[in-house]
Amino acid sequence: MFTIKGKTTDWELVIGLETHIEVLSKSKLFSGASADYNPTIAPNTQVSMVDVAMPGMLPVLNEFCVEQAIRMGLGLNAEISRKSKFARKQYFYPDLPQGYQISQPAEEPPVVGRGWVEIMGDDGKPKKILIERAHLEQDAGKLKHDVHPTKSFADYNRTGVALLEIVTFLDTKNPENNSYITSPDEAERYLREIREIARALGVSKANMEEGSMRADVNVSVRPVGSKEFRTRTETKNMVSFKFIKSAIEYEARRQIEIYENGGTVSQDTMRYSQSEGTTSVMRSKEDALDYRYFPDPDLLPLEISEETIERIKNTMPELPAATRARFISLGLNEYDAARLTETTDISKWFDAAVGGKAERAKPVANWMISELFAHPENWDVKNAVDASNQGEARIITPENLAELVDMIAASEINGKQAKEIFIKMLDGESGTPKEIADRFGMKQITDTGAIEKAVDDVIAANPSQVEQYKSGKVGLLGFFVGGVMKATGGKANPAVVNEILRKKLS
Ligand code: ADP
Ligand code: MG
Repeated sequence: MFTIKGKTTDWELVIGLETHIEVLSKSKLFSGASADYNPTIAPNTQVSMVDVAMPGMLPVLNEFCVEQAIRMGLGLNAEISRKSKFARKQYFYPDLPQGYQISQPAEEPPVVGRGWVEIMGDDGKPKKILIERAHLEQDAGKLKHDVHPTKSFADYNRTGVALLEIVTFLDTKNPENNSYITSPDEAERYLREIREIARALGVSKANMEEGSMRADVNVSVRPVGSKEFRTRTETKNMVSFKFIKSAIEYEARRQIEIYENGGTVSQDTMRYSQSEGTTSVMRSKEDALDYRYFPDPDLLPLEISEETIERIKNTMPELPAATRARFISLGLNEYDAARLTETTDISKWFDAAVGGKAERAKPVANWMISELFAHPENWDVKNAVDASNQGEARIITPENLAELVDMIAASEINGKQAKEIFIKMLDGESGTPKEIADRFGMKQITDTGAIEKAVDDVIAANPSQVEQYKSGKVGLLGFFVGGVMKATGGKANPAVVNEILRKKLS
């Protein structure tokens, strides 16, 4: 159900994403030029004759890029096509000197076929998002319109770099199969999952800010309970999670309004305005481009052997879905496991803090999710795993958290003291939790003699409350616990205090 300004509507969203990730490789998909196009490199210095389509130049397929596609395909739990083809997708634009993009034909199986990724659904439960396909294609160059008042410049460093386009699947034959994205939040979680898989595999930096990950966003709406999918629009070239969510929200609201006013949505291609947060029609269905796909006569069909697929399978690292399953086996619930695998850095941090001791898993997860996630400035999650940063105050390391958790488990400090130590660390107090505890005399009192003395004092000082407690007002126990904690400077072991109080008051 889609909500507008906190009000639930009778509409639900159907979202399909076409995600482009830039493939990490030394050279381009069909040429030997460097695939590094980062903005510090002088324009048009990483360009071969093939990239700018000089007459007589022939593309030569970069096998490593194909292996990267296979790797990502396996990460998407997808079928790898043993045979696929390359096709020319014709369009004319100055960022593409060839006049066509070499891609894989839409009607035939691309290198990566049907697969799925698992995300956390809006209900907090794991949800499978089906993948229709992923295909290899060439990236275009970059046009610069803001360098000169009357001229535009073209930089072809990026021209011909390998892209992998990953398309989500919508089971139109079974519209009740809801293994697709149905909300802006799910869209973000899906993209983050794709990003983490790509990074874990070294297939792509998948960085939206740098443009190594971009998405086209297809949105339609339908009445809740409806059995058909309605017309969708496609918003092109989105480069931030925030804008993607905003574009989906805006499109959904726009379409709902059209339907509620008795109109129909037309299958348009939209552009998103970052400053307005709105979408507008870029081209309508009538002007849909005809790409006149045809098989590229310069390239043989791509054949992949079973051995190649097996070899790559054997080098696959643990991916987020497997990490989640492992965390659940350590005693975490699905929600915690999902939060702690949002990025590989986070899951590494968690693993480092747990250090193979299962009894630490749940408390470490609780501290991370409720405290560290709320203090990103004190938790340089990436660098904290890196030992070079460990000396720096304000940055909580996995070792610090592990020690804190162990101190509580060993009853050396109570929860309240642990929180105080934690806050001191956030405030820049130097040293390990043990050192901080010593420095501030934060030792939990477990000595029953001392606690008993405090209990006796509190009981003696509050005769009327004791009377009320004994006549059945057992809720007053908290009052006594508070008194004892105060008398012991917050150092008493609460469990022991409770036990002694109960005994003495009964
Ligand atoms: P195109 O070739 O026009 O880009 P595709 O069939 O490749 O179209 O679909 C693009 C994306 O749009 C896919 O992720 C697909 O699941 C999604 N999609 C298709 N129909 C709808 C719809 N009615 N509502 C939302 N998304 C859709
Ligand atoms: Mg498409």
